[in-house]
Amino acid sequence: MVVPEGHSIHRLATRHAELFAGEKPQVSSPQGRFAEGAALISGTLLESTEAYGKHLLHHYAGEMTLHIHLGLYGKFTDGAGEPPAPVGQVRLRMVGDRHWLDLRGPTACELLTPGEVEALRARLGPDPLRADADPARAYARISRSPTPLAALLLDQSVVAGTGLIFVTEALFRAGLPPLLPGRNLTPAGWQALWADLVELMTLAVERGRIDTVRPAHLPEAMGRAPRVDRHGGEVYVYRRSGDPCHVCGSAVSRGELGGRNLYWCAACQAG
Ligand SMILES: [Zn+2]
Repeated sequence: MVVPEGHSIHRLATRHAELFAGEKPQVSSPQGRFAEGAALISGTLLESTEAYGKHLLHHYAGEMTLHIHLGLYGKFTDGAGEPPAPVGQVRLRMVGDRHWLDLRGPTACELLTPGEVEALRARLGPDPLRADADPARAYARISRSPTPLAALLLDQSVVAGTGLIFVTEALFRAGLPPLLPGRNLTPAGWQALWADLVELMTLAVERGRIDTVRPAHLPEAMGRAPRVDRHGGEVYVYRRSGDPCHVCGSAVSRGELGGRNLYWCAACQAG
């Protein structure tokens, strides 16, 4: 299982605004675990939605915010017209004028006060998909730390929204070894890495999948078979251990960092 990366949460925020913003949806918790919170916002104007890293926020009138974190198992389904009878553990159901939406299995589904929303933002690093992101905040952490760069970029308090695919692929594209201590990353190196994360993640929001391969390394350009993987998308190293690097042909390496798999090309990412 893989926690959804930030681009999918930004896509959900946009979709939920299209489905419900400006309406007063009926909100319930068929399973019961969010019954009290649902009753507080049901019938209230949904003003806006936003994503911050892997966190989804629905802002209701009266300064009430619904906070959702999908975690490993959370999943939304939605549809037009009348909702079906609830199936399984539906934590949250929203029914608007034209659409319905169900949420099952989230790590967090709770109401936050404005102060709690501020506290959430304060514990997250800048999100490359947000216009208000300040990459200097992340570099202040990275440039002081002996921790491997890959671990820092996966730490949501350093950068928000980046998961293993974006991190491993951005490090490959930058030619940086994943175990490089953060404090060895130059300011210019960080500037380029951040710009690449913004580009890769923005493309993923548009396409709904993560593609990181430059035109010269696409299957058609190289005369190779397209990637077959449930995550979709063309990538350089993620889950390609032992396969030939698209750039230099060396076998892609795999290692572990804090219980997570890491993938890199030892030749291209020598630093
Ligand atoms: Zn290589």
